[in-house]
Amino acid sequence: MKAYVVEREKLIHNIQALRAFAGSATIWAVLKGNGYGIGIVPFSRILHENGIDHFAVTELKEAEALRENWPDAQILMMRSTADPAEINALLDLGVILSVGSYETASAINSAAAERAAFAEVHVAIDTGMGRYGFLPKNDDKLLSVFESMKNLRVGGMFTHFHSAPSSEKATKRQFELFEAAVGQVRAAGFDPGMLHCCNSHAFVKHPEMHLDAVRLGSAFLGRLTCVGKVELEKVGHAECTLEEIRRIPKGQTVGYEAGFKARQPMRIAVISLGWYNGLASSRRNDLYRFRDSLAGVLHHLRDMVTRPKIFVTVNGHKCRILGHVGMVNAVVDVTDVECGLGDKVIAQINPLTMKGLRVQYR
Ligand SMILES: *Cc1c(COP(=O)(O)O)cnc(C)c1O
Repeated sequence: MKAYVVEREKLIHNIQALRAFAGSATIWAVLKGNGYGIGIVPFSRILHENGIDHFAVTELKEAEALRENWPDAQILMMRSTADPAEINALLDLGVILSVGSYETASAINSAAAERAAFAEVHVAIDTGMGRYGFLPKNDDKLLSVFESMKNLRVGGMFTHFHSAPSSEKATKRQFELFEAAVGQVRAAGFDPGMLHCCNSHAFVKHPEMHLDAVRLGSAFLGRLTCVGKVELEKVGHAECTLEEIRRIPKGQTVGYEAGFKARQPMRIAVISLGWYNGLASSRRNDLYRFRDSLAGVLHHLRDMVTRPKIFVTVNGHKCRILGHVGMVNAVVDVTDVECGLGDKVIAQINPLTMKGLRVQYR
């Protein structure tokens, strides 16, 4: 047995806590990357059952999967596109499109005009992320979206923060730039619609930036790298069973590069989870890379000196992994643990780094 288990109760707890903290702000649940790895359809079902019916995606196939299940949900495509086939498919699905430039606005406007219809769009403002969006200042093209694109209905404006977990200063700066762009639109006599800028980290750290709506992804999984004002539970872990238990003599080596050598006779167990499944990679491949910061460099140095200790839980006991984690296997020290073949192993693995495991809701 081997699976990635999503604990329904914990997920529901997080949804409720986030909804309470959002107050009157609408929550867009961001479901990119197959719903952050836990399955866009089952994840969206739990969200929907718990009062969330606004979904944000980055792929056409994600919008299709959601629309098939939720005919009345609001679906926002966060990435802009100028591909007529994609635009038409999204319009067929009743998806709100993002407009990130004059060119994408024109492409959507033309597609809508050809259908003799209106396309609802949210206008992206680039306040520093450098991906999609109009520049916040002196961008006449921004106003032209409101002024001259007759087949667009602007339902909102948004921006995306680049350093929400790490820099309040940068986030505040981006927020100001966004407000300035919104002000420019209002000053020209247009309604900017629903305003949204917060991702999960900004949401928990900056309630003053909630505006009309927020876009949350990782918060649902309780995997934020900053401590905010919302108590969240980590959702998701890997499970497998003990497949082999052996005794090894003093001096026996374990794993590639003989990364571990027994100093005394030991009892070891083999598990069928490895780095391919995300075991041991969570620390460095988390959503935000610690190695980008000084703290990350220090972590790295310490790892080189002390060899990081990775643990899994066998029958409720914390057990150390010996030597290097293999691609799909690892070896665990069970010398002091009562266990037998078939007993349960739990490994903390971030769903974003998990691969190759069937997702099971429980
Ligand atoms: C991924 C994403 C989010 C959600 O980010 P989290 O930090 O996971 O909450 C919000 N907005 C945009 C544009 C995104 O790409």
